[in-house]
Amino acid sequence: MAPNHPNINQTLLVDLKAVLLEKIRQNGGWVNAHAHLDRAYTLTEDNFRYINAHLKDKWHLIDTMKREMSVDNIYDRMARATEFFVAQGCQAIGTFIDVDEVIEDKAIIASQRLRERFKGSIEIKFVNQVLKGVIEPRARHWFDIAVQFVDIIGGLPAKDAGHEGEHLDVLLSTGKALNKWVHVHIDQFNSADEKETELLARKTIEHGMQGKVAGVHGISLAAHPLVYRREVYHLLKEANVAMIACPLAWIDHTRNERLAPSHNSITPIDELIPAGVTVALGTDNIADIYKPFSDGDMWIELRLLLESCRYYHPEDLVELATTNGLKVLGLK
Ligand SMILES: [Zn+2]
Repeated sequence: MAPNHPNINQTLLVDLKAVLLEKIRQNGGWVNAHAHLDRAYTLTEDNFRYINAHLKDKWHLIDTMKREMSVDNIYDRMARATEFFVAQGCQAIGTFIDVDEVIEDKAIIASQRLRERFKGSIEIKFVNQVLKGVIEPRARHWFDIAVQFVDIIGGLPAKDAGHEGEHLDVLLSTGKALNKWVHVHIDQFNSADEKETELLARKTIEHGMQGKVAGVHGISLAAHPLVYRREVYHLLKEANVAMIACPLAWIDHTRNERLAPSHNSITPIDELIPAGVTVALGTDNIADIYKPFSDGDMWIELRLLLESCRYYHPEDLVELATTNGLKVLGLK
């Protein structure tokens, strides 16, 4: 009897990681569509005690640190992180930078240096973080300064709680006037009480900003019932709003006793992509009080995303990690 040899014509997919990495390389390399490089590597023995604080408290807990930062310090940490992304074969990165009454324009100056230093080796797009909101006059003052420098207008409607619509009006009308993309942190708390993704899609249509807006996170979508989720996916498609998934950023959402459809605390790409929504990939925070163990490893982010959403479509995953990122950064 002939030995039972495997069919030599059949390709064995024994190393899917290698297959994906090669395709990502062929597409020009990774695109990290969402980061906060100006806060990377700020974890210290002193501030480590804040790692379990609530996100909304962390927005203020970093004030002292921001006040004491020098331009050189910000630049050094941003450069260290950027070097790590270049070493991983990243072709582009979109990073938020804090610009507000506490840090003032220090991150802007550091970013100008960063752009010069890495010219030719990686494309860097800057986005303004609005940790003080955009409505209170002093916050608005710094927002107006920031938007002149950045490539993309950044937002955080939860910071202007109760005035989320107004917050989005400021971002979107500014994006429209300056012809810039708008990236907004939305639905971060894994709760059906949040409907910011829906609001962002409606406001995008209202302002005629279709195709120029991306929502970051959208974790709470998965906490809603299917009927509502489908309605929002349809709206996102209609508004041509893209989503940016940062898997490690919110997978740590803490256990609670609220009942919700069974889901992982992660952007539901297994529903968004089939619904026709563009999804890109980001690392979010690196080694700070927000994410002490995050290290910016793009493969770990992609692996966590595909596993937690059980999304096993290599072609889509490669697009998500490369060309979709270029699209939301306005590079394609
Ligand atoms: Zn973020």
